[in-house]
Amino acid sequence: MDLMEYKARELFERYEIPVMKGVVIEDVSSLQEKTSGLAFPLVVKAQVQTGGRGKAGGVKTADGPGELNEAAGSIMGMNIKGYTVKKLLLVEKAEIEKECYLSITLDRMTKMPMIIFSTSGGVDIEETARITPEKVLKYAVDPLVGVRDYTARYLLSKSGLDMSLLGLFFDLLKKLYGMFCEYDCMLAEINPLAISRDNRLIALDGKVSVDDSALYRQPDILAFRDSLQEEELVLEARKFNFLYIPCDAEGHIAVMSNGSGMIMSCIDLISKQGMKVRAGLDLGGGATADRIKEAIRIVLSNEETKALFINIFGGITRCDEVAGGVKLAVESMPGNKLVIVRFEGTNKEKGLQILSEIKGNVVYVNGLQDGVRELYERREQM
Ligand code: GDP
Ligand code: MN
Repeated sequence: MDLMEYKARELFERYEIPVMKGVVIEDVSSLQEKTSGLAFPLVVKAQVQTGGRGKAGGVKTADGPGELNEAAGSIMGMNIKGYTVKKLLLVEKAEIEKECYLSITLDRMTKMPMIIFSTSGGVDIEETARITPEKVLKYAVDPLVGVRDYTARYLLSKSGLDMSLLGLFFDLLKKLYGMFCEYDCMLAEINPLAISRDNRLIALDGKVSVDDSALYRQPDILAFRDSLQEEELVLEARKFNFLYIPCDAEGHIAVMSNGSGMIMSCIDLISKQGMKVRAGLDLGGGATADRIKEAIRIVLSNEETKALFINIFGGITRCDEVAGGVKLAVESMPGNKLVIVRFEGTNKEKGLQILSEIKGNVVYVNGLQDGVRELYERREQM
């Protein structure tokens, strides 16, 4: 689960990782009152589940109340990469000397927590990593040893930064690593990690991703998840134990599968053809016709979703149950939206028989590639 900046900041504060003083608002009418304890200049920051807000105009500075009103008014409600801004973070502006990048992530190659540090942080870290990878330092932490002073010394000396920062940097690394472990993080990222004019290290932006499989032992993150005004369909799907994954808000295609790998390969192939996927739905294992029907209803209830690609490997999930679910859903739903079905495995012949009897806009395809081709040929209708 990805935490937005304002929630990541809360965790940072809990671990005493330095952040600038700030408040979150959901309503611009409370702007003056909520910011009364803050000192100008302020930075107004859109809170959305995506990066690159700075470049998209979702981060603005304000030198006084007038500018603050203007900035907050223009950012609230803004659309950033398909996400509507419903919350703003208002923080005191830091005097930045240098913008660095610091993160800890789980590395699949070394199977260890990996610290990534660069002195070329800020909004262009991806470019830095691509063009000058030598500026991105990495250090795999042995989980039995943890972060030690030599870890910090190694990274800092390689980075070329002044070694007088060592004490602060080591302290920060220990705190971030502690948080990373205790919160079962997949990623804990600070970008930019600012070195301020007065030589402090300050987390100016945070992105934290908590392992979904560990949420059962992270009660406060779980409570936070439930308090979020998530997309209605995510919540609706969760009731049935389906995982609804919003993808590209500009897409009109949804994919449904029994397994996240299958969903990802579908999305990859569809995207490769220049089409956009709006959402994915993971059925999990052993879905029955009734459950398939619910899943299709949920996915297609989104007005902007014009076509559904169902791709099933029939192992425990049986193809005739899938086809039965498609029949139930399609015949009870208005709109005649396109449903492309591909399945392989248990009871395939029985499933095909059922599909052939459906009255509706249902197409059977004989493979993943054929399904993508079918979508491509009908893309004008979407
Ligand atoms: P992102 O674009 O979504 O990653 O948003 P960030 O929170 O990282 O903000 C983008 C950029 O805004 C940063 O790289 C900084 O250059 C700038 N910025 C953010 N907060 C501050 C601040 O407190 N002081 C100053 N001077 N710049 C800031
Ligand atoms: Mn950032």
